[in-house]
Formats: sequence, C-alpha cells, structure tokens
Amino acid sequence: MFRRIRIALLLLILIVVALNTWTDSLYTTQWKAPMTVALFPINADGSAITDQYIAKLTQQDFVPLETFFQTESEEFGIKLDRPLRFTLAPPLNSIPPLMPSKPNMLQAMLWTLQMRWWAWRTPPKPPGPTPQIRLFLTYHDPARTPVLSHSTGLAKGLIGVVQLFADRRMTGTSHMIIAHELLHTLGATDKYDLATNQPLYPNGFAEPTLEPRYPQRFAELMAGRIALSPTEAQIPEKLLEVLVGPTTAAEIGWKKQ
Ligand SMILES: [Zn+2]
Repeated sequence: MFRRIRIALLLLILIVVALNTWTDSLYTTQWKAPMTVALFPINADGSAITDQYIAKLTQQDFVPLETFFQTESEEFGIKLDRPLRFTLAPPLNSIPPLMPSKPNMLQAMLWTLQMRWWAWRTPPKPPGPTPQIRLFLTYHDPARTPVLSHSTGLAKGLIGVVQLFADRRMTGTSHMIIAHELLHTLGATDKYDLATNQPLYPNGFAEPTLEPRYPQRFAELMAGRIALSPTEAQIPEKLLEVLVGPTTAAEIGWKKQ
C-alpha cells in the first residue's frame, strides 16, 4: 500500500514537472510582450560580508541589464520597451540544490527534477507582476570562495541558479553572468570550448568578420569571453563590452531561423 502511494506520488510529481516544462516552453518564443524576471538573492556562505552586500542591493542595480537587452533586441527587430524587466525579490533563506560538478546524464536529470521541485515550493511570489523567469542569485564572499561553482540555467526552463561574488567591484561581470544564464533559460546554448573556455569561431565571436580577427573588441554573450588571440580570452568587466550574436538571437526567438 505504502509503496503504491509512493509510486503514485512520484508519478504525480513527474506529471507536474512535465506540464510545467511544457507550459514554460509555450511562453518562451513569443516576444509580443515584455517578460518579467524575478531575481532572488541568496546568501550562499552565511557570512556577514555577503549579508551586507545583499542588504544594499536595489532594483536600480539591475537597470543596466534592462538597457542591455533593450539595445541588443532592437538590433534584431524587437520593438518592445524593455523586453526583459527585472524585479528584485526579497532575499531567500533556502539554498537551491547543488548540481554535481561533472554530472552524468542521470545526475543532471535528477538535479533538474530536484531544482524544479525546490523552485516550485520555495520562493514566495515577489511583489509586482508574476514573473515568467526566476533567477536565484547565490552570492559568495570572494575571500571565502575564491572560485565559484558553475552557474546553471535550465535549458528553456525559465529557472536559473547564478553563482556570483558579493563584491561591488565585480558588478559588470556579475551582470554578464546573469544575462548569460538568463538566455540559457530561454533556450540559448553555450558558444565556447568547454575544455579551454575559448570562444568558438564564428558563433562565439561578437565580430566574426573583423580583420584581423584578433583581438576582438567585444564578447558574444553566450561565449562569455573576449577572444584576444587563438589561445587567450578575457572575461568582460562591463556589459558595454558584450554583444548578442545572431545565432544566440535566433535561439531565443529574436530572429527568424
Ligand atoms: Zn553557459
């Protein structure tokens, strides 16, 4: 009896998750109205430094992201006033499930399920319009965590976990990481070599036709780095050094494929 209830419950969760995914993907390709992105800050290390950083965050801090997506989408014929609008939700006390560092397919699937389950029951609805996309910004004190684990945006899942430093001096880079994970949740794919972190040519280059090809002046958002030479690439320090390339734009529905 107990076993049957358990199986029924698991099936129910699976159905909920599947339906959720299906309705989410219906939202993603339209761009007829602006989408709301809720940002939930989370203190990942429990430190006072991270607490102070989060306490000082305001809605205003994320305006450069709205401006960035406005400018970039206009390049691809989107005529919306701020197509992606950010709302800062109150901080959460719960930490999202951790993705294993090199997951196999089963682990990755399990994590996706856990993540959806966590996202479904944890955060309260933030003030303002109901968000279509939710990003969980987990902040770390760089003195305690010098190297961040990987951020993960559920592919077309409208949910992302973003690992960030609680350091004002890194705001520009943080914005780029948030923008990158956000576009994953809308279906954009990575455009860098996973082994070397080098941008892939030509889709990972902001200006693939530039002569000479190196050094590039900008980073393509889903490559995440400015290619300086065939073996060197630099993380941008501000969104002004980042562009959305035509392949990424097509993946998120900004351009007819
Ligand atoms: Zn990525």
